[in-house]
Amino acid sequence: MTQAEPKFGSVMLGMLSAKNAAAPSPVVRFGHKGAFSDDLKREVDAYFDREGGSRRDSPRMYLKTAIIFIWFVGSWALLVFFATTLWQGVLLAMSLGLSIAAIGMGIQHDANHGGYSNHPWVNRLFGFFMDGMGVCGYIWRYKHNVIHHTYTNVQGVDFDLDFGNIARLSTLQTKKAWHKYQHYYLWFLYGLLLPKWVFYDDFVIYRSRLAGPHKLPTMNAREVALFWGWKVFFVLWSLVIPAMVRPIWQVLVFHLIAVFTLGVTLSSVFQLAHCVAEAEFPVPEESGKLMNDDWGVHQVETTVDFARDSKLLTWFLGGLNFQVEHHLFPKVCHVHYPELSKIVEKVAARHGVRYRNNVTLGAALASHFHHLRRLGTGAQVGRA
Ligand SMILES: [Zn+2]
Repeated sequence: MTQAEPKFGSVMLGMLSAKNAAAPSPVVRFGHKGAFSDDLKREVDAYFDREGGSRRDSPRMYLKTAIIFIWFVGSWALLVFFATTLWQGVLLAMSLGLSIAAIGMGIQHDANHGGYSNHPWVNRLFGFFMDGMGVCGYIWRYKHNVIHHTYTNVQGVDFDLDFGNIARLSTLQTKKAWHKYQHYYLWFLYGLLLPKWVFYDDFVIYRSRLAGPHKLPTMNAREVALFWGWKVFFVLWSLVIPAMVRPIWQVLVFHLIAVFTLGVTLSSVFQLAHCVAEAEFPVPEESGKLMNDDWGVHQVETTVDFARDSKLLTWFLGGLNFQVEHHLFPKVCHVHYPELSKIVEKVAARHGVRYRNNVTLGAALASHFHHLRRLGTGAQVGRA
């Protein structure tokens, strides 16, 4: 598969329509690189020239990978083979869920973007961490790297805004009666992210070769074998091996605790970057006109950082509290995002581009809550 990178310049997708979008499908195009993107690129290049550091292959990243991997294996082994009390099981299952979230945010995400290493085989290797957690990396790279990263928050086009009838995340989507409670119930549904992803979404896309409205590039025989092989591997380590040493009901209960912890964490982090009051949700024109002349400006307008001062959160979230920087520089390893954010903020101010940041995790969570409430009740959404 072509690991298409969101790029400055002209990009286009045809025949696009969200499942529950009311508007006809547009063709969305961005214009040529603008002054903001040019200036930003110059400043970031100068930063790396000055610091002399590589954008990828950071020793900190390799150390972090080892720590997270030990955390994951340790949690799993202790839970399956050594836990003797209920509270030990609950804590270890939650620890396991958080360690998988850390793998998702802090290892595979960089790798599948090509931002972990300069060596493609290293990116491929660590990208498989995603497949090992049951999610097909091939499908994810297309959905995430190509669709979401290019058409971020474009209503009716960004597939990540489409929850079917379960929730209303875009003003183009039809409002249902139950949406007025979505700011309460969605948090629980976030907990079911992994099982839905592993055992439903991937199979729907695999069979239909469609990611929502978008056509999936052809999977060759190797990718098909990897799809099935990794699914079997996930079922083996997460259910079959535990069931060989524990009663089935225990396996299912603690599996559920682990995946629920993981799902709430991963979904929330994603939503705090894009699905908040401070973010823009552009609607394409009927003619398929430009969203914004500068793709870089579009990324800044549709994405929000949070808790930039928290080193602990930055470590655990794989820098995804710096999603503005991630969206602008997806092939740069996330350990550089805190420094890049200072440059982005400075250049944005120079060009009159509004750079948004929720100062704390609590503020970001509250913003997501209020945004869901406004969309669910049909109120006007947009900038706070
Ligand atoms: Zn990404």
